[in-house]
Amino acid sequence: MIGHLMFWFLMDKIGAAARKEDELRQHPGYGKVRCPSCRGWVLPKELERKGCYLCGWKEGAEPGTARA
Ligand SMILES: [Zn+2]
Repeated sequence: MIGHLMFWFLMDKIGAAARKEDELRQHPGYGKVRCPSCRGWVLPKELERKGCYLCGWKEGAEPGTARA
């Protein structure tokens, strides 16, 4: 009986962890970094290579002067 309860207790814990993971994946910022200029979520690889696709910020440029 105790074993049975433990099983469902653990299953519940695992299910909660999986739901948490799903929430993280659905988050707009999952796997992304925030652009230091416009605070938008961008892929770190893209930010590094092409700069922010939202505001045009590029690493090394001063925030807010990318389009100058
Ligand atoms: Zn930006």
